[in-house]
Order: sequence, then structure tokens, then C-alpha cells
Amino acid sequence: TSAQDYALETRDLGKSFAGFYAVKGVNLQVRRGSVHALIGPNGAGKTTCFNLLTKTLSPTTGKVFLEGRDITRLRTAQVAKLGLVRSFQISATFPHLTCLENVRVALQSDYGKSFRFWSPISAVSELNARAVELLERVGLANALDLTAAELSYGKKRALEIATTLALDPKVLLLDEPTAGMGHEDIEPITKMISEVSDGRTILIVEHNLSVVATLCERITVLQHGEVLTEGTYDEVANDPDVITAYMGG
Ligand code: ADP
Repeated sequence: TSAQDYALETRDLGKSFAGFYAVKGVNLQVRRGSVHALIGPNGAGKTTCFNLLTKTLSPTTGKVFLEGRDITRLRTAQVAKLGLVRSFQISATFPHLTCLENVRVALQSDYGKSFRFWSPISAVSELNARAVELLERVGLANALDLTAAELSYGKKRALEIATTLALDPKVLLLDEPTAGMGHEDIEPITKMISEVSDGRTILIVEHNLSVVATLCERITVLQHGEVLTEGTYDEVANDPDVITAYMGG
């Protein structure tokens, strides 16, 4: 595997808060077109890692590469324009707009590449068609005219993913997509992520290990800010160090 095969890569990534390294020497390699999980016990550094990738935080050490390009010194908006987008961050939904309107707004946003605000009238129907298509992909075909506020919790998350997809990201970061969901919502959201992952690179922080097992080809396990191990689900699940880490060792 060469460097070009990685959609997202970090080298020696580190972040210290007043001398305490929340993330330390992390080399993360996310293969192009794969679904990759970042897991680890509470306090392992997952959120800090995500914040470093999207440039919400600046690293103390190391570098971040998006498709081989060094993005370490760029800002969040620049990184988003290059195609690294985190769900539930830039594309928050508007509760009083309908699903269709929410996705249209995202398609027309600064970060959306395909459409601009002052598009000719002919582009409007194209815009609508694209919004409907994205909503169908996340299972909201029957909710086009419902407002975001009217949706169930699971469907709200699906709408958020649709607005993120509207930005046509190269790499999508999903921050605990099933957090706070009941069993009845977890299965459809997992299926939906699996469908939208087609041809796209996704890095996911997820606590539900059966969701990770279903979705992810590769898993990086963090502990105390460092990479404990990396591999397939079966490899990491059978790693004695991982078992100990999860039991609080
Ligand atoms: P995770 O997402 O895996 O639960 P975090 O990245 O949130 O882990 O946190 C990793 C460690 O860094 C924790 O010990 C946390 O207390 C610490 N930490 C995170 N953010 C800050 C901050 N802004 N200032 C000081 N310590 C922080």
C-alpha cells in the first residue's frame, strides 16, 4: 500500500493541553474508499483526533494529509472545501425548514461545489432533483415536506447525513452516528451509512461495536492518546491488549 492509496493520513499527530498529551504520536492511515473506525475507551483521544483532522484544533506535533496533500496548516473551512467534512459540524439542520429545503440549502452553501446561489432558473429543477435523490439515499423519500423538527431522532441524523453528503465530501467523518439511539433506529442508520459509503471514504467514531463490525473494514484502537493497535474487526477484537483496555486495564 503506497501513500497515494490513503485518502487521509496522519504522521506523528499530537496535541498537548498544558503539557498533557491527549493525542500522542498518532499515525493513522485511512485507505481510499474504505470505512475505517476509530475506537477506544472514554478519554482515549478520539474526539481530540477528530478535532485535529478538521482543524478545529491545531496540532502540537505532526502532520495531516488529505489525498497526499499536507493540510496541517489549513483552516476548517479550507479543509471542508478540499473535501474533508465532518457530519453534525458544518451542516447543521434548520428545524423549521423541510427536509427538502434543508438539503437545498446545503447544496447551495459555500461548501457545496455543484451549485451557487445565483444559479440560472434552469438549475433550480436540477437542484430539487439532486436534493430529492440525496434524501432518497438516506431513506427520507417519504419525508421531503416534513420539517426537521417533526422528524424522529434517528431520521434527524439521517437528514444531517444527507446535508453533509450535499457537500460531496471525499472523506466523511462521522462522529458517533448512533449515539443516543434506540435499537429500532440503529439498524436503519447502519444500513444507510453502508449504502452511502459506496465509493466514499468514511472515518467513524462509534461506541457500538456491532455497528463497527458491520460497517468497518479497518479499525484503529486508541488508548491514552496513542494507537494501541490497528486491523480488521476480528484482529482487534481478539487482541488481548484491546480486551484489557476495554475492561479498564
Ligand atoms: P475521547 O473522545 O476518546 O473520549 P477526548 O479526545 O475527548 O477522548 O479526550 C482525551 C483526553 O484529553 C481526556 O483525558 C480529556 O480529559 C483530555 N482533554 C480533551 N480536551 C481537553 C481540553 N480542551 N483541555 C484539557 N484536556 C482535554
